[in-house]
Amino acid sequence: MTERFSEKTNELVKRAERACAPVFERIDEIARYRTELVMDAMAARRVSETDFIPSSGYGYGDVGRDKLDMLYADVFGCEAAIVRPHIVNGTHALTIGLFGLLRPGDTLLSVTGKPYDTLDEAIGISSSDNKGSLRDFGVKYRQIELKNGESIDLKALRNTLVDDKSVKVVYLQRSRGYAQRKTLSCDSIDEVYTLVKEICDAFVVVDNCYGEFVEKREPRADLLIGSLIKNPGGGFAESGGYLAGSKKAVELAAARLTSPGIGAECGASLGQNKNMYRGLFYAAHTVAQAQKTAVLAAYVFEELGFDVSPRYDETRSDIIETVTFHDPEKLCAFCRGIQAGSPVDAFVTPEPWEMPGYADPVIMAAGAFVQGSSIELSADGPLRPPYTAFFQGGLTYESGRLAIATAANMIEEY
Ligand SMILES: *Cc1c(COP(=O)(O)O)cnc(C)c1O
Repeated sequence: MTERFSEKTNELVKRAERACAPVFERIDEIARYRTELVMDAMAARRVSETDFIPSSGYGYGDVGRDKLDMLYADVFGCEAAIVRPHIVNGTHALTIGLFGLLRPGDTLLSVTGKPYDTLDEAIGISSSDNKGSLRDFGVKYRQIELKNGESIDLKALRNTLVDDKSVKVVYLQRSRGYAQRKTLSCDSIDEVYTLVKEICDAFVVVDNCYGEFVEKREPRADLLIGSLIKNPGGGFAESGGYLAGSKKAVELAAARLTSPGIGAECGASLGQNKNMYRGLFYAAHTVAQAQKTAVLAAYVFEELGFDVSPRYDETRSDIIETVTFHDPEKLCAFCRGIQAGSPVDAFVTPEPWEMPGYADPVIMAAGAFVQGSSIELSADGPLRPPYTAFFQGGLTYESGRLAIATAANMIEEY
C-alpha cells in the first residue's frame, strides 16, 4: 500500500489480511464451486453469441431471453425462472411473485417477522389506502416473529398452518436486510420448506435479496426472488429482477409480470441480454469480492473497538456487514471514507438527510456505475443510536480494501 494511509492503518490492514486468509480461502472455494456450476450450465445450454441479439416489440422468439431463464433455473436448482430487465427492482419482483400466487381470501404468512420496509405498501401492512395493495384485493396478512431475532419459530408455524387453512404463501426473508437480526442459512430455510410441504400445499416464497451465491447452493422454495442490481447481476446487469422456482409458481408469476395468457412469452430484451449473461457469469466471483471486503472490514473495525456483525470468521449467508459506532460523527466519518474509496463520485462528501418515510436523517455512501447498485460498495446508516452503518458490496476486493482502509484512516484521524 502506498503512503496514503498512516502507518497504523497500513499495519492494521496487513494484520487483518493475515488473520482473514483462511476465511478468504473458504469464500474463494465457494466461488470456484459456484462458477463451475454456472459454466457447466452455460455449456449444456449452448450459450452462443446469437443469444445476445436484441429483440424489440413483443419480443416473440427471443431465444437468448428464454435460455437465460433456463440458466437461472439450472444455477438456482429450480424447475423454471423468469429473468427480466423490465422488473424495476427487488420490491417489484417480490410484488409480482406475491400477486401471482395469492387470491382474495388467501393469507400471506411471514415467518421472519415484518418483511423489508419497501413491502409495507405492497402488502398493505399498516393501512389500506386503496392504491392496490394485496390487502385492497382481500389478501390477509399474518406474521410470526423470529425467536431471539435468530431462528424461525417452527412450532408456531406448524400451529398456524394446522389452524388456518387460508395460508397460501409462507414467506421468508433470507437476509437480515436493514435489521439487527441474523441472516438465515439455506439449511434453515429448507427446514421450513419441508415442514410446510408436510402439512399443506402452501407456496414457500423466499426474498433471496443479498443471499445469492453466498453459499454453495440456494434455498429450496417455490419462488426465490431477487434483484439484478444486487448479487446475481454480478455488477453487470443494468436493471432487472428474477423469480426462480417451481414450474407452477413461475407460470403464475409470469402471468402477473405480463398478462394472463401471455406470461413469459413476451418481453423484448432490448439489448440487455448480454449484460445479464455476463453478470451471471461473474456473479459467484463478484459476490466473493464483496464477501472478502465485508470480512476485512469486520476484522478492521472490530480491532478499532467497534461492534461488528457478523464477525470476520462467522458463517455468512448474505453480503451485509454492520458496524456500530455509538457516535454519529464516527458513523459519518465511516461513510465519507467509503465514498472517497468509490470509483464514481469519490469527490462527493455525503451528508445526512431527511429521507421521505424515515423517522431520522440517514447518511448514505455510494459511488456506483449502476444507480443504487448494492453489489457495488455502498453504505448507509440512520442517524440514531446506536449509530450503525449497514454496508455491502465491492466489485473488486482491491477497491473494497482501499475503501475500508480509507474509512479506517478517517475514523482514526477524526
Ligand atoms: C434490496 C432488498 C429488497 C428490495 O429492495 P429494492 O430496493 O426494491 O430492490 C427486498 N428485500 C431485501 C432483504 C433487500 O435487501
